[in-house]
Amino acid sequence: MILIFMGPPGAGKGTQSKLVEKEFNIPQISTGDILREAVANQTEMGKKAKQFMDAGDLVPDSVVIGIIADKIQTDECVNGFILDGFPRTLDQAKALDVLLKGNHKDVSHVISFEVADEELTNRLLERAKIEGRADDNIDSIKNRLDVFKQKTQPLIDYYRATGKLVSIDGLGEIEEIFARVKKAIG
Ligand code: AMP
Repeated sequence: MILIFMGPPGAGKGTQSKLVEKEFNIPQISTGDILREAVANQTEMGKKAKQFMDAGDLVPDSVVIGIIADKIQTDECVNGFILDGFPRTLDQAKALDVLLKGNHKDVSHVISFEVADEELTNRLLERAKIEGRADDNIDSIKNRLDVFKQKTQPLIDYYRATGKLVSIDGLGEIEEIFARVKKAIG
């Protein structure tokens, strides 16, 4: 089972991925988490990514595609995985198609989490108080929402055309949304 979780920042992709990971025993691959770890460890990749992440801009496609290419070939991914926050651009989606094809694999479902902007901003500002993420400040949040609309939203049409897209309401209790996710993935 290969799942793609799409949605604006704060839509609940990370929370829901972790629940799916536990219940279905397939790993969550979060490009955001991998990049944050690289920044914390001050690796070459982390040093390159930091300025983009702090501003709420996308890290260059080549960097994130490289992360995914390495990750999906690991043993822990043989039974499937959940992509949380990747792809975010059309070029990333096309690169993913090529990577999967090369591994004789295919996307099972694309779940799009729908949440209104105002709710997203409130959630991210709340998260800032708890997690202290460098990019959960009002300027970066605004930019991330814009970037989502400009660069990632077009992917919804791309995946709708494959017949694999399921849009779900991202508003409600975590368990309630998890039930919607489970229904979507069957
Ligand atoms: P996230 O934790 O998914 O909200 O990602 C945090 C930040 O990491 C984003 O604002 C981007 O700067 C960067 N990032 C994560 N995933 C990607 C991706 N697929 N493409 C480009 N940048 C990404």
